[in-house]
Amino acid sequence: FYRFLSTHTGRKLQDKVALITGAASGIGKATATKFINNGARVIIADIQQKLGQDTANELGPNASFITCDVTKESDISNAVDFAISEHKQLDIMFNNAGIACKTPPSIVDLDMAVFDKVMNVNVHGLVAGIKHAARVMIPRGTGSILCTASITGVMGGMSQHTYSISKFAVIGTVKSLASELCRHGIRVNCISPFAIPTPFVMDEMSLLYPNLDAQRHLEIVHSAGVLKGANCEPDDIANAALFLVSDDAKYVSGHNLVVDGGFTSF
Ligand code: NAD
Repeated sequence: FYRFLSTHTGRKLQDKVALITGAASGIGKATATKFINNGARVIIADIQQKLGQDTANELGPNASFITCDVTKESDISNAVDFAISEHKQLDIMFNNAGIACKTPPSIVDLDMAVFDKVMNVNVHGLVAGIKHAARVMIPRGTGSILCTASITGVMGGMSQHTYSISKFAVIGTVKSLASELCRHGIRVNCISPFAIPTPFVMDEMSLLYPNLDAQRHLEIVHSAGVLKGANCEPDDIANAALFLVSDDAKYVSGHNLVVDGGFTSF
C-alpha cells in the first residue's frame, strides 16, 4: 500500500528514515518538514532541547527529537542508534548543524580557541556524523548522506576566514568520502546556501556588521547580487535537499549544489 502511495502520490521519501542535525530551526527544520511531507520519518537532532522538542511536536507523529551536541561523538552515535532502535534503519543522514563566529579582520588577531570551537561543530561534528551514518549504512549497502556547506566554502575573501575555512573543509570532506563510500552504494553530497533568512544568518550579519540592522543588510545583499524577485527562504534549501537525497539524484555523488540566487556567478 505504501509503495503504491509513493508511486501514485509523488511522495519521494516514502518509508525512508532520516536523521537531521540542527533541525530545531531554520534550514534543518524546513528540510525536516519537507521530508515528512514526502513520506519520511525524521529524527530531529539538536543541541537546543526545548526548541527541538517543540519542533518535533509541531511536525507530528513522523517526527521525533533527540538531544544531540554534534561535538560529542557519543551523542551522534546515540542518535544513529536511536534511529535503528526506533525505525530499524537509517536511509538519510543530513549533517546540517553549524555555527559562525566573530572573526577579526586580520589572521594575526585570530583567537585559536574560537577557531577550534567553529571547527569542532562545523567539521569535527560533521565528520563524526558521516562516520556513524556509514557504520549502519555500509552493511545495508545503501544510503544518502547530505551536508550543509556554504558559498564561503566555494569562494574566499568573504571577510570571515574561520567560518570560510570550516566550510571549505566540509566540501573537501564530502568529496573525499563520496569516493570512499560509493563502492558501498552510499551517496555523499552537500548544499551551499547563501543569505537564507534564519536565526543563524541574522546573528552572523550582526557579528559582521554590528552597526547595521541585520534585516537591512540582508536586503542590501539580496538586491546587489542575487536573482531579482527570488525572495529566498529555508524551503529553497529544503527543495535542493529533497532532490539530493531522493532517487531523482541516484547517480549524483560528491557534488556541491550551490543554491545562492546566482551570487557566486558574478
Ligand atoms: P539556524 O540557526 O536556524 O539552525 C542551526 C541549528 O544548528 C540550530 O537549531 C542550532 O541549535 C543547531 N546547532 C548549533 N550547534 C549545534 C551542535 N553543537 N549540535 C547540534 N546542533 C547544533 O541556522 P541555519 O541557517 O538553518 O543553519 C543551518 C546550516 O546552514 C549551518 O551549517 C550553516 O552554517 C549553514 N548555512 C546557512 C546559510 C544561511 O544563509 N542561513 C548560508 C550558508 C550556510
